[in-house]
Amino acid sequence: MYRTIPRYDPTYRLADIFAALHLCLTGNPAGRLAECLRRLLVTKHVFLFSGARVALYVLLRACRRPGRVLVPAFNCLAVPEAVRYAGYTPVFVDVGHLSVNMTAETVRKAISSHPAVIVITHQFGIPCEVVNILDLGRQHQALVVEDAAAALGARFQGRPAGSFGEATIISFHVTKVIAGGRGGALLTNNDELAHNIDSFLEKAAVPSERCWGSVLRAAAWRIATNSRLYPAIQFGYSTLRGEQMFEVVPPRLEMPPGFLATCSDFSAALILRQLDRLPGNLARRRRLGQLYTERLTGHPCLTLPAIPEGCVPSWIQFPIIVADKQGLYKHMQRHRVDLSWTFRYSCADSFGLNGFPNARRAAETVLGLPTYPSLSDEQAEHICCAIGSYRPDLNVQDGENG
Ligand SMILES: *Cc1c(COP(=O)(O)O)cnc(C)c1O
Repeated sequence: MYRTIPRYDPTYRLADIFAALHLCLTGNPAGRLAECLRRLLVTKHVFLFSGARVALYVLLRACRRPGRVLVPAFNCLAVPEAVRYAGYTPVFVDVGHLSVNMTAETVRKAISSHPAVIVITHQFGIPCEVVNILDLGRQHQALVVEDAAAALGARFQGRPAGSFGEATIISFHVTKVIAGGRGGALLTNNDELAHNIDSFLEKAAVPSERCWGSVLRAAAWRIATNSRLYPAIQFGYSTLRGEQMFEVVPPRLEMPPGFLATCSDFSAALILRQLDRLPGNLARRRRLGQLYTERLTGHPCLTLPAIPEGCVPSWIQFPIIVADKQGLYKHMQRHRVDLSWTFRYSCADSFGLNGFPNARRAAETVLGLPTYPSLSDEQAEHICCAIGSYRPDLNVQDGENG
């Protein structure tokens, strides 16, 4: 009855791709997007790049305080890599117990290393304890910036995530709140920092990402996730990549060619097309988040991560913690649901560092349920029912029979 439910579905439609192409030809979408983001997020300065990792790299170069940078260990490996490319040393912060985020407690442990910069991260769009971490940063004279790559529209104690730090990065990767194929923004109200960013961009003569590359990537994602092709493509992709659900992935230590680029006009146009729909997009994600919370609280085989008081997440996915990650993943595959593996590594392991047990456990136990706006209530119910029928002991029998 159900076709496979993909783990991701980009927020743009085919019509948006055509409209974005048209917008590219008729005038300056990147300039217009920067202006719209300035107004929407009430920020003085906005710079657009080909990804949030690039925005972080430029931010750190412009900070001109070489030293240590605190980042969470349960994180996208691209983040500590960008820290390295910028000439800084990543220092990892464990995530909290049964949490996907750093906490004031885990930051306190890591801060004795006297970091130059703290990157407050809102993983999967779930705000972390911003205010307490900000206080710690102030006490230690560290520059506090926010990784709100996944948290566009999220709120903490009534204020937008991304409005707390000296600067903020946001991602428009295809898996994020607004999918632009690829793209990232760097926001700040700090004039001096903005001036430094301007001079860096001028000196480095940063090129724009090629338009056609981003058109093809956006179209490929649209086709791969929104058709009967998905199971075959997903199978082919996972076979070719040969990735394990938990593994130690070595970091890339040299900046790859073409890394440093501004947002393509096409991606900017595709994002611009979707800004008006942001309130509906977020409302839909929150509705799904609420549905999952209601249906899955108290399930004997899984735990929902701790979320601090006063958080309104933007849910780019809905994380759940399960002892046998592989077992539940396979169970869901049999029910035609492809869950996200979230991170299959701890970045601390990647850099050969011990002592981050919660991050390793998160990598071994956290799966992500889909929350993209095109997911219907009926599909979400199907996902909850399928999870409801999961019993690890029965699963062993499944394996024996099949
Ligand atoms: C996705 C993500 C990034 C990387 O964003 P790109 O635009 O792909 O570079 C960084 N940090 C977090 C928390 C993310 O979710």
